[in-house]
Amino acid sequence: MITLKFGGTSVGNATNMRLVSDIIAHSSGRRIVVLSAMSKVTDKLNTAAQRAENGDSTYTDVLEDIKQQHIAACGELLTQSHQSGPLSQIIQHIHQLEELLSSVFLLRELTPRVKDLVASYGELLSSLLVSAHLKDRGIAHRWIDSREIIVSDDQYGNAKADLIATQANFSSKLDWNDLDILIAPGFIAANKTKHTTTLGRGGSDYSAAIYAYVSKSTELQIWTDVSGMMTADPRICAKASTIATASYDEAMELSHFGAKVIYPPTLLPVMHENIPVRIKNTFEPSHPGTLITREVVKSDHLACGISSLSNIAMIQLEGSGMVGIPGFSARLFDTLARQSINIILITQGSSEHSICIAVNEDDSDRACAAINQQFALEIHQQAVQPATPQKKLSIIAIVGDQMKDHTGISGRFFSALGKNGISIRAIAQGSSERNISAVIQSEDANKAILVTHEAFFEAGRKEVHVVIAGLGNVGSKLVAQIEQQQNYLLEKLRIDLRIVGLVNSRHALLDSNGINLSTHAQVLDACPSQTIQQVTDWLIERNLRNSIFVDVTAQGDFINHYT
Ligand code: ADP
Ligand code: ASP
Ligand code: MG
Repeated sequence: MITLKFGGTSVGNATNMRLVSDIIAHSSGRRIVVLSAMSKVTDKLNTAAQRAENGDSTYTDVLEDIKQQHIAACGELLTQSHQSGPLSQIIQHIHQLEELLSSVFLLRELTPRVKDLVASYGELLSSLLVSAHLKDRGIAHRWIDSREIIVSDDQYGNAKADLIATQANFSSKLDWNDLDILIAPGFIAANKTKHTTTLGRGGSDYSAAIYAYVSKSTELQIWTDVSGMMTADPRICAKASTIATASYDEAMELSHFGAKVIYPPTLLPVMHENIPVRIKNTFEPSHPGTLITREVVKSDHLACGISSLSNIAMIQLEGSGMVGIPGFSARLFDTLARQSINIILITQGSSEHSICIAVNEDDSDRACAAINQQFALEIHQQAVQPATPQKKLSIIAIVGDQMKDHTGISGRFFSALGKNGISIRAIAQGSSERNISAVIQSEDANKAILVTHEAFFEAGRKEVHVVIAGLGNVGSKLVAQIEQQQNYLLEKLRIDLRIVGLVNSRHALLDSNGINLSTHAQVLDACPSQTIQQVTDWLIERNLRNSIFVDVTAQGDFINHYT
């Protein structure tokens, strides 16, 4: 038995759904197939619900959009003679949604329970379509409603499964008969009172892990739109590569720190049963992807991957009144726990003069208010200072089981950041040494990922960005020399030297991907003129790593902009 899960892009349109059914058809043995909603549909359902609650009648436009998206997919996916049943089911679901949302609109009230019920239609609709398509292709299977199987707690929007009750349902309610394939909507479950709940954004991964657990699957396959878990977010780092193998712990750390490819709670049920997880690409099925198991497999890289979390705020509790007095941290953590505020990172200097915590930015004002209330007396006595949040921060983390056996990892990490002028607000390293995290300004986050990736995964390769102002005799010679040396530098010294800006008194040619030096003269002449301010603004905004500014102008105009 294996469990396969397909994400939003994989079921994003009729073409992709066909790829999904091919993958299902080519696998063998008993299979449970868990499906996400079509891409963007959960967002759209949430938007519609929000608009209805706000009394904004345009919620109906969003609903219409959802309806058309599914009707179009149905029309493209199914042969004409097989369309009428699924079409009427889609229309029936949309009709139920209409009724739900019109009550929200009239009452101007959206309870968490209703919000989950609305969100559940995304997975109901997508799984209905895939099931109809399999039927159309003559692939025998049964569609099951996950709410009949997965029992969750009452935490609407972020429910957790009761594995024992779910196991009982799975064993008693499912009759496989001669069937090999079950199709189930992901993301949705029901609590003990049979109300629909959802398992958190990205929760179809978790649904699949729950099915893998209760069915004792020999493997959980997460089919997505990238070829496995990568060394960094591929949207930020073009040089990110697939991590061939990772331990559960590594995968958990990476996902907790922002690697969206797997939803963090997913790994708990499968770890429990030692079920291997394979992350695969629906659009490149032959790629081996990433295999996640309990073992730590030795690799050439000390770190396994880099990830980052944005929208972080830091709160500092600081004051001479804390030194040597036990119980301050306990009171701090207790205060936040009572407000259900999750602490993402903690640091305390050994002087005990301050404790620093990182929380989600959205929670930070509430956290400070609660802390200041809790420590009102100490603040009044000036033993501690009132807490205020520092916002617009990100956490960047390097993760790897092998880091603990090696020295110099933090040095390499922090020096990569330091050389690029990225200032570090706080640092945390767990005693497992599996994760080293640094809190930095959000505007530096992408640059931090790129330089850290270079330092750990690109074997000494370095991308250097050069801007040359002044293209007289000296400037032009320099450009010519760089053009001549570019290949040598790349091949022999692994320096990818790119000129990203050429500026003379009349024109500025700026391209953060690197200017083609064989044609730069003509291209530069056709570029508009830019003030020095515009050029420096461009540079600051791009925030390119390893950048060098060369001023070979004869005037002193640029000097005022150096800092
Ligand atoms: P699905 O809908 O299939 O669940 P998600 O959008 O939830 O897909 O997750 C896949 C996306 O996660 C990828 O498209 C990629 O942009 C993003 N991602 C972020 N960090 C990583 C990483 N370290 N490795 C792979 N993908 C990542
Ligand atoms: N459709 C849900 C979401 O977008 C669950 C999932 O796709 O995993 O969050
Ligand atoms: Mg996902």
